[in-house]
This record gives sequence, structure tokens and C-alpha cells, in this order.
Amino acid sequence: MIEHEKEIAFVHRKFAEHYARTALEVPEKIEQREWGFGGWDKKIEARHFRFPDAKSLRGYLAVNAPLYCSYSVAYYKEADARPIEKKGWLGAEVVFDLDADHLDLPCIRRHGKGWVCDECLDAVKAQTLRLIEDFLVPDFGVKEEEMKVNFSGNRGYHVHVLSEDMKRLSAYGRREMMDYVSGTGLDFDKFFGKEGAKLVGPKPSDAGWAGKVARYAMERDLTGILPRNAVTKPERLEAFRRGVERGNWDVVKIAKKVEVWRAFVDSLGLKLGGEVDKQVTGDVTKLIRAPDTLHGETALLAKRMKLGGLEKFDPLKDAVAFGSKNEIEIEIQASPAVRFGDETFGPFKNERRKLPERVALYLICKKSAKLA
Ligand SMILES: [Zn+2]
Repeated sequence: MIEHEKEIAFVHRKFAEHYARTALEVPEKIEQREWGFGGWDKKIEARHFRFPDAKSLRGYLAVNAPLYCSYSVAYYKEADARPIEKKGWLGAEVVFDLDADHLDLPCIRRHGKGWVCDECLDAVKAQTLRLIEDFLVPDFGVKEEEMKVNFSGNRGYHVHVLSEDMKRLSAYGRREMMDYVSGTGLDFDKFFGKEGAKLVGPKPSDAGWAGKVARYAMERDLTGILPRNAVTKPERLEAFRRGVERGNWDVVKIAKKVEVWRAFVDSLGLKLGGEVDKQVTGDVTKLIRAPDTLHGETALLAKRMKLGGLEKFDPLKDAVAFGSKNEIEIEIQASPAVRFGDETFGPFKNERRKLPERVALYLICKKSAKLA
């Protein structure tokens, strides 16, 4: 018997049930997209699929119940032609992939790579909000109705930009956008200078990154940057902020001010991950998780949300696709504590448990449990 044979069959059966009972909203211009599907071992096992309409895609999902569904950010004349060069590229969405794994958070040491906690999910959500509110809207002029946001199904969020003038952006242009939001090449010396001994710098009203640097300095907790009493005494902090408002960064004296503010500037870019994930935005032929489909590593949905709903979105409640009434008996090797809604399960280590279907499926998909 193949390892995990029972589990693979069980997950496919559950996914098929979900797709049979749920209508999913499909990406715009579905007929121009390439689709790819994955299973237990690989996130994309087969690609170059094309579906003329929503009904044919839904039928495919209900019958085959793939563990991963991805579609092309690109629009093609013939989405199922192969190789890719023959498809006839017409344009592509700009997609940003934000993942808790890129944030290098201290909680990873507690729960290990591959798992999430509220700390990581909140941190990656804050980065996603910053991307939208601090960059896409003010600097790139993207309108709210041109953005779609979804949970990735695992550890992060995807922001799809569908504006007409961005669809034709080259890989190079996409790369430049990435570099801008991630603060690559952000230069302290461009923003700051000396007037005599006084450190002068950007003002909050300045355009682009200069204004951001000033606004972040005025809004953020500057513990560890300003001397302690400047953070704790409101009148000192207020004086610092009023200084920055005029471009005077020297109202509160700091030792090694140039080094301190240089490090501050270097820390401000959005963490969009290493080379691999930068390619998600740069690569104009990439396949990306289809919103509202199930993720084979969690059995959670890559759930879409309204832009205004992002702040309150709770993946471990709002992206849950399976119920809690049915209980499944599983054999768990190891798992940190996992929260679903208001309930926490685990940590578990080498134990047999009867758990709600949603939790059992999550642990099976994480390859940390087997059916008992
Ligand atoms: Zn965490």
C-alpha cells in the first residue's frame, strides 16, 4: 500500500463533497486563463488546462477534487496551447504574494516552520494592509474596485491588481514595482542631510518614500530609537514629532543619529520574500492559487474578502470550509496548538484523538496525522 493512501483518498473525497455543494466565483475572463492542478506530492502536477466558463470549471473540480487549483495571472488568446510561447500573451494581472514565512518572526521558533499562530497571521495581515493603503492606492493610483484580496489558504494573502493600464506591464516594470514597495535601494542619503550639525530630513507632506519615512517616524513606537525618556514623556515625544513635521530631525538628541535613522529607513520596506516570491509578481506567466478554492496543505479556503473586510478577517474562522459536528478519529504524530474559531486544539504528540472534521482534515493535510 502507498504511504498515506487512505488519507489521500479521504481528502479527495472531502474536497469533492465541498466542490459539489459550493458555487465558487471564478476569475474574470476565465476563458483566457490557463489552469493547473496539484495533488498530495506536488502543488502543480498538470497544467495547460482551459475552461470556457464557470460551469465547466466547477464540474471539473467536483469530479477530480484537486488538492491545489491555480490559474494564470496572464490572459491568453489560446490558454491551452503549449508550450507557453504559443498561447498568445494578452496581458496579466499584477499579483502580490505576502506570506508570514517571509517575515522572520520570533514565533516561528515556538511553533516551527509550516505552522501558523495568531502572531504570524496578524503580522502578515498588517503588511497586506500597508501594501494597499500606503503604496497601491497613494503611489500607484490603484482604485479600490481594481483590487481583489484573498487569503492564500495557508500563511498569507494575495492582492490582485486588475487595472487596465497595469495589465500590459512588462516583467521589468513589475519588478520595479516590487522593488519600490519592498524599499530595495532606498537611500538614506537621498532623504537626510546636515545643516551645520543639525540633522534635517523628510517631512510627512513629502511625496513617495520621503513622506512615508517621516510619517512612519511620527506614527510608530520609537522605543529603542529615541532615548527612553523621549518615548515615555508625552511632551518630549510631541516636540520630536513637531520637529519632523518641519523636517527637523534633531529636536531630540540621539547618539549616533545618522546610523540610527539609517537603520530605521532600511527597516521600512515591505517584506515580500526572497527571489522566488518576487518572481510571482515579476513572472508574467505564473500560476497562482485560485481564490475560493481549497488549499491541500490546510483544507482551508483561499477565501476572497471585500477590501473593507480584510482588517477583521480571521482565516482560522472565515476561511474554514469544513464542519465541526462530524468527528474523525486520527493518529497524530506531532502538532503545535492550533486554533479554530474560538477553540484551541493541541499541542499533540503521538496520540490518538477524535477531533472535529475541520481540525482532523487540517492535521492530515499538514501530513502530521493519519486516519486511525
Ligand atoms: Zn507564529
